[in-house]
Amino acid sequence: MARLIYAIEAAPGHQFPGHPECPGRVEAIQQALQSLRVFAGCADGQVEQLGTPPSQLPEGLLETVHTAGHVAELRATSARLSGPTAVRDPDDPDGPTYATPTSYTDALRAACTAVALIDALVASSSGPAGKSNGSGGVGGGSAGSSSGSAGGSQQPLAASAFSICRPPGHHATAVEQMGFCLLNNAALAARHAQRAHGLQKVLILDWDVHHGNGTQDLFYDDPSVLFVDLHQEHVWPGSGALEETGTGAGAGATINVPLAWHSGHAAFQRAFERVVAPAARRFAPDLVIVSAGYDAHYEDPLEKLQLQAGSYHWLAAAVRRLAEELCGGRLLLLLEGGYNQQALGQSVAETVLALLGKPSAHPLLEASQLPHPEPLGQVDAAIERVRQQHGL
Ligand SMILES: [Zn+2]
Repeated sequence: MARLIYAIEAAPGHQFPGHPECPGRVEAIQQALQSLRVFAGCADGQVEQLGTPPSQLPEGLLETVHTAGHVAELRATSARLSGPTAVRDPDDPDGPTYATPTSYTDALRAACTAVALIDALVASSSGPAGKSNGSGGVGGGSAGSSSGSAGGSQQPLAASAFSICRPPGHHATAVEQMGFCLLNNAALAARHAQRAHGLQKVLILDWDVHHGNGTQDLFYDDPSVLFVDLHQEHVWPGSGALEETGTGAGAGATINVPLAWHSGHAAFQRAFERVVAPAARRFAPDLVIVSAGYDAHYEDPLEKLQLQAGSYHWLAAAVRRLAEELCGGRLLLLLEGGYNQQALGQSVAETVLALLGKPSAHPLLEASQLPHPEPLGQVDAAIERVRQQHGL
């Protein structure tokens, strides 16, 4: 049975007039989860909503990702503000990075939720060894593909975990907020898994339309975190070229797959099968984290890729199978971007359906129904360059 532990929090105090990164995003997701009845018919214990997370991160964790200066400034900014204020890029046509009186608390809560979900998914697979599988044997009836590095473990597969919380995190660097991101939730979750649970090798897959520059920077010289990023080329923040592959001990542990404008379902499918899956198998992670942005949807207002709601079902199912194969199903997804609220709600609902092992509710459109043809020749060439660069 595919189990899911999730958290959902709109953070209503963190909003800026007319800004696309707003509480309405999470409210739209909540509505879609209800109207599409994604939890209907679930078995007892199949779905668990996380309770209130701790209000503080574990001692010393924040400092493994962010400088004291960045954290102090974020806290001081929220403390002195009386209303929403642009704190970076005030003239950005997509909207500034902003703060409000509650932003520090809200960012901390999103980070604490990611950490609590790591704890929950580890706990979900660490029941008494062999309790339900007997002692000798036929390894656990879960998913038929438990041949990975979990190495003959008798433990049940972990539940998947999904943090549907904001503000997002993947653009936040060690030293600064940017791109609507204040604290880097994916990086904090990865460091917590390493420090608290001994999950040393972490794969972070970022499928937001924008390059996850903050996450890349944080692990650029670190071989214990494989960062794989599928994104639209030649758009903000400008990083993510395929030649950016890591440095020092981390050389080769950053894999960028820049995709041509109008790339869509077939492009992501090919990139997953030809780059993400073989790179993940070679790396053999102990945990998979996904920076799950939904702004690569064809109706998203910010950029120009062409995924569909059903594409996110395919991606989530594929990454879930990969996590089951390689690391006992330990998989955490974190909400990043996604600014067409209807498309976002449907796409997150599709993700949840896939994590629960349920079928898609949004059949894929024919190619001719999309605004633009997919540039599959360019996509194939780019994927081949990435494979050569990384010896895949
Ligand atoms: Zn984005």
